[in-house]
Amino acid sequence: MRRIALVTLVVVDYDEAIRFYTEALGFRIAEDAPRPDGLRWVVVEPGSPGTGSGLLLARAEGAAQAGRVGDQTGGRVGFFLHTDDFARDHARMAAAASRSWRSRGTSRTEPSPSSRTCTATAGTCSSPPADPVPTPVNHSLKERLAMTATRVDADVIRRLPKAVLHDHLDGGLRPATVVELADAVGHTLPTTDPAGLAAWYYEAANSGDLVRYIATFEHTLAVMQTREGLLRTAEEYVLDLAADGVVYGEVRYAPELMVRGGLTLPEVVETVQEGLAAGMAKAAAAGTPVRVGTLLCGMRMFDRSREIADLVVAFRDAGVVGFDIAGAEDGFPPADHLAAFEHLRRENVPFTIHAGEAHGLPSIHQALQVCGAQRIGHGVRITDDIPDLASGKLGRLAGWVRDRRVALEMCPTSNLQTGAATSIAEHPITALKDLGFRVTLNTDNRLVSGTTMTREMSLLVEQAGWTVETCARSR
Ligand SMILES: [Zn+2]
Repeated sequence: MRRIALVTLVVVDYDEAIRFYTEALGFRIAEDAPRPDGLRWVVVEPGSPGTGSGLLLARAEGAAQAGRVGDQTGGRVGFFLHTDDFARDHARMAAAASRSWRSRGTSRTEPSPSSRTCTATAGTCSSPPADPVPTPVNHSLKERLAMTATRVDADVIRRLPKAVLHDHLDGGLRPATVVELADAVGHTLPTTDPAGLAAWYYEAANSGDLVRYIATFEHTLAVMQTREGLLRTAEEYVLDLAADGVVYGEVRYAPELMVRGGLTLPEVVETVQEGLAAGMAKAAAAGTPVRVGTLLCGMRMFDRSREIADLVVAFRDAGVVGFDIAGAEDGFPPADHLAAFEHLRRENVPFTIHAGEAHGLPSIHQALQVCGAQRIGHGVRITDDIPDLASGKLGRLAGWVRDRRVALEMCPTSNLQTGAATSIAEHPITALKDLGFRVTLNTDNRLVSGTTMTREMSLLVEQAGWTVETCARSR
């Protein structure tokens, strides 16, 4: 079967366009994900998932694209909407017509009773694609304030100087880079269209299917086995952080997963450091300096952690700032890697441990009290030791974490995808912050989770009651 899945419409503003399609036309948002280049992948659809074509709302970049908004089909009808409930849609559009959307040219939307076809917007399909019935531009003050606030907040948040402490190199590649590098090394991807690949990653990460989630890393790792692949992904990593307003980042990766192309462990680290240095130099030259330190990960299901600990010590003066133990928590306790942690402690090297994500309090306890971690990767399950968040009464482990100022590297979007949290609004980061825990906000895997630091902060502002000022103070 073949069908047109998406039609692109150039729009002025994502949120304004979304409001038009959802409120005036009754569409639903099928996708709304940030892209590493700062744009968003926004798809709206008229029907249930998988039943029809979607519209890709693309924000106009530059004068040429902006000029097309409002006149994308040269005055002809832009698209035809068929419906099985004409009365409902007519009523919705009539109601929407009493409000005002930005009017452009002679565009209009006319219910067409004879054909039971709603004809939307002559000459538009822009964002907002024109009034259902032509009306003067007359947003209510409340509407204008809301629209302005959304735009200003996103911009302000992007410009805030930010730190990210938990971000995986192999989870944050640019889709176009994955496509190009995969072509160079002969690796087969689910699709060779960068936008389609980004959508595939986002879908796989949200599928709730662990096999699909893990498969996403296979494709990024496949293109990180050569010097060229590592140099490019490391350099772009830094540039993407800079574009996101990050001024200090800690990137983590497992060198042992990048030796399939014949590089040795030290060569992997040297190459990544070279790429990071190139990125930092370019970012500084562009006026957006960012400092990036490296955490080398041992994999908890393998037995090379002691070797990786040696690698950390060897490169401690060359940009490597710590160690982490990553991989599936289930069945692979960090205490299996005590030799690595003891060596690092003897060498005064700090380390963090992924804990309290898939596994509960025992994993956090073991990471801190048996292994000696200074930070905890995720740690959302520390709330298991706070039976009543409202009362603020802490169990002994939670008390230890708060009172010893153990930093929790929290990653809300990632936690939603892996089921460690149920919603942004109820993510423990907010309650823990309010209880005085040292929480930090992070992305975890920017490509796989379709996120950025700006997006994570924006989500907390929009859905969890944070303010821009809180974000600024909390960085
Ligand atoms: Zn992680």
